[in-house]
Amino acid sequence: MPFRSLETADLKGKTALVRVDFNVPVENGAVTDDTRLRAALPTIHFLSSKGAKVVLLAHFDRPKGKRVPEMSLGFVAEPLSKLLEQPVAFADDCVGADAKAVIDGLEAGGVALLENVRFHAGEEKNDPEFAAQLAALGDLYVNDAFSAAHRAHASTEGVARLLPAYPGLSMQRELEALDAALGQPQRPVIGIVGGSKVSTKLDLLQNLVGKLDKLAIGGGMANTFLFAQGHDIGASFAEKDMADTAREILEKAKANTCEILLPIDVVVAEKMEAGVASRTCGLGEITDVDRILDAGTKSADRLIAAIAQCKTLIWNGPLGVFEIPPFDAATVAVAKEAGRLAKSGALIAVAGGGDTVAAMNHAGVAGELTFVSTAGGAFLEWMEGKALPGVEALQA
Ligand code: ADP
Ligand code: MG
Repeated sequence: MPFRSLETADLKGKTALVRVDFNVPVENGAVTDDTRLRAALPTIHFLSSKGAKVVLLAHFDRPKGKRVPEMSLGFVAEPLSKLLEQPVAFADDCVGADAKAVIDGLEAGGVALLENVRFHAGEEKNDPEFAAQLAALGDLYVNDAFSAAHRAHASTEGVARLLPAYPGLSMQRELEALDAALGQPQRPVIGIVGGSKVSTKLDLLQNLVGKLDKLAIGGGMANTFLFAQGHDIGASFAEKDMADTAREILEKAKANTCEILLPIDVVVAEKMEAGVASRTCGLGEITDVDRILDAGTKSADRLIAAIAQCKTLIWNGPLGVFEIPPFDAATVAVAKEAGRLAKSGALIAVAGGGDTVAAMNHAGVAGELTFVSTAGGAFLEWMEGKALPGVEALQA
């Protein structure tokens, strides 16, 4: 992908408009998880150290084009300033005279945060006039919010068309990791797709079976596939109306010589609850009251062996109900092995998705994998093979 490089940009005395994702979790006005603030630090430090004024653009919550005081981004300035160890000026509006006055007041290397871009209806509409008002504030545009790149909004797409545009350092790292996992992967490449429903991950499955050498399907969606293949799945959660679709995906995999790995044994219980009696059994031993809640040890071992034969792993969705032990066992066992291989350099392992990030943290391997994407919807759309407007707009 041809991107301009921030490293070679002329930054001294320039004003950089930087799109960040500061849509952080908050309780009683305090940030409860500052991961997203930390993600922006390398780019801010870099621009600041090169003598640019750094002007941060971000959205918070869903004010739907109106000024909603409870959705002001003002509360972020102080925690950000502490992390940066430098002052952060705050402007009451993201365009117009207020914004301009705050930016004019910055010294070279100074940092300002502008008010929630979604206070203006033009943001989500990607209104060209609003984008032009944003662009008027800076000399260049930097997008460091991969997690917002699946939206074609004025601050993620429109403004990028009006100024010289660059990926920020976190964005660049994420794009490189994703490209290494699915764009130009070292082969063989294996995928794991789990989670609850086939219906929410159809596009993803369709795209992956056309690109991967092997694909393991787990979680609740595996039940639908097992049902589609004629197995008795007892009282398991499944989308029985998706059976035809599941068979189509298996056909497409075959046509593309993508080997599909479905569970060969399962962990079942009568209820999806902590403390219930459970057992591991073969596919022919599931009774009417059984619910499949995890893949069995044989399935996990076979998947671990398959990963060991591959050079690249891409993972979205847990293999079982990992929130309720012991139904976390397959996910944790496979994650630990992926972590070990990635750490040793034998495997490129990239994982993403809301619950998947939680599962990798639960397994204690988030720091060992090559890359863990916290981008949520943007990560899934990228896995579906869709072009992300915020990334497209950065291409030189
Ligand atoms: P992500 O957020 O990473 O994209 P999903 O939301 O698709 O992942 O899936 C995660 C959810 O799938 C978890 O809450 C997990 O409990 C559920 N799940 C996994 N296996 C099963 C199963 N066998 N039956 C029901 N739910 C399951
Ligand atoms: Mg989820």
